[in-house]
Amino acid sequence: MNTTDNKFFCFYPFRAIDILADSSAVPCCRFDERFSENLSYVNDKNSISDAFNSEYFNNLRNKMLAGEKVNGCWKCYKEDDSGVKSMRVGANQYMQETTEIDLEYLEIESGRFCNLKCRSCSPTVSSGFHKEVKSSNFMSNHFRLEPNDEILDPKNQLNKSFLYIAKEQSQKLKYIKVTGGEPLLSEYFLEYIQKLNKWGFSKNITLQFYTNSSFLPKQKLLSALSKFKQIDLFLSIDAIGKKSNYIRSGSDWNTMENVAKQWYNFSVDNKNVILDVNTTISIYNVLYLKELFNWTNEHLKIKWPALSFVHNPSFLSVSSFGVDIRNKILKILKKELNELGFNSDKSPRYKKLINFLENTENSDKFLKFIEFTDNVDKIRNEDWKVIFPELYRLLTGYKNSI
Ligand code: SF4
Repeated sequence: MNTTDNKFFCFYPFRAIDILADSSAVPCCRFDERFSENLSYVNDKNSISDAFNSEYFNNLRNKMLAGEKVNGCWKCYKEDDSGVKSMRVGANQYMQETTEIDLEYLEIESGRFCNLKCRSCSPTVSSGFHKEVKSSNFMSNHFRLEPNDEILDPKNQLNKSFLYIAKEQSQKLKYIKVTGGEPLLSEYFLEYIQKLNKWGFSKNITLQFYTNSSFLPKQKLLSALSKFKQIDLFLSIDAIGKKSNYIRSGSDWNTMENVAKQWYNFSVDNKNVILDVNTTISIYNVLYLKELFNWTNEHLKIKWPALSFVHNPSFLSVSSFGVDIRNKILKILKKELNELGFNSDKSPRYKKLINFLENTENSDKFLKFIEFTDNVDKIRNEDWKVIFPELYRLLTGYKNSI
């Protein structure tokens, strides 16, 4: 079986599991079936092996082997169609290409506990939104949450599944990826990696995690990290200065700069640490990549951050704007990136970015973008037109109705 002949086949359900913030289990982070009632959970009664061998996972595997489309995989199909290398196609980077059912790749969301409320994020993955959802009708309607919804309960913010991953279930793991909320605010995450140290497994494991780089890490975390075979550390940085403060609301750019530089020093001192930046491309930051890349290059020696793209909410995705606006963005981007010495021959990340902008669907969520942005600006006392004047000018030329 391979991913070229069978466009709906993927190795993830055979080799990997992703435990979401509420402890439910899906095959990977791209899989879009959060809240399905058929999901199984990892908790004190149901082990990670039970979830991995559940009827839900077996159904997915059977569908894929039969070449049937799996609804939860639409994001990968969309990227495949637009010429972007999807996780489906890139699975061999992390796991063996076999349909033998064995868990070697664990992904886990640390919970909803996060100190930020980024524009493209939501209360289902960040507790940073809770106050706004409780106090603003727009927010509670937009996210379809009642102010007393149990998801907003402080008790439900950390993923306790870490506590229930036993030694024998960790034995064959080769790769662990931890995402947020904010992993470094989870005491359970720290406890689990300390256990991996104690069990002697850390030396076999590449641990990848993302941090919002908005606070300094604890010393005991740093010493636990130093024992792993490899640490792939991603700092989530989408822009610099005021633009960063706006997109990653709740953060302070001066602090982020300082913390990012400290992580850089940690990576210089610990050879098992590979530092990278992950930039999530949305309509807000797409015109400001040159200044960001100049900053990452100067301070972190990273020329090209890893890129991911906002798909949800679709009205913040660059791909949701009409072809004419995307062509203007492309022209500006190509010129600026060429000035930095980037082109498709030298950088797959450049190709990924340009492909995404060139080949995605032609829908138009412009009015929804304005409605959401203006309303959140009012709540946060911000003004996107001031923070992103070039974007405002570009969009004003596009629709005179702003
Ligand atoms: S096709 Fe994509 S979304 Fe589906 S399981 Fe594979 S990596 Fe995940």
